[in-house]
Amino acid sequence: MDCLFCKIVAGEIPARKLYEDDQVIAFHDIGPQAPVHFLVIPKKHISTLNDLSAADTPLAGHILFTAQRLAKEQGCEEGFRVVMNCNDLGGQTVHHIHMHVLGQRQMAWPPG
Ligand code: 5GP
Ligand code: ZN
Repeated sequence: MDCLFCKIVAGEIPARKLYEDDQVIAFHDIGPQAPVHFLVIPKKHISTLNDLSAADTPLAGHILFTAQRLAKEQGCEEGFRVVMNCNDLGGQTVHHIHMHVLGQRQMAWPPG
């Protein structure tokens, strides 16, 4: 499968990894939108949030908890933003689900 993030999971494309276990991997975003900007992704390929199944809910919780834990490690305990873009209209460009974690600056609302 020609998936950029599957290639990062497989180690075929380098990434600045923050964390890895049997289910997820976290790495710094190549185009950071904040002083802290990393992505938490499942190792399993899931194209978009629309493709998440009921069986994936423990994995989704693990992604969220990993995001929280790493955000604290990155010094963002005072606040941070998590974003998951879904599909083209939601602004998703890489079709392997990923949670953005952004921090160390004041966030604005609404997002663009
Ligand atoms: P999306 O727009 O799909 O929500 O987010 C995709 C994110 O992946 C973007 O923030 C983009 O900067 C990041 N990205 C794209 N290609 C690479 C890459 O090769 N390495 C890393 N570390 N991040 C990437
Ligand atoms: Zn993939």
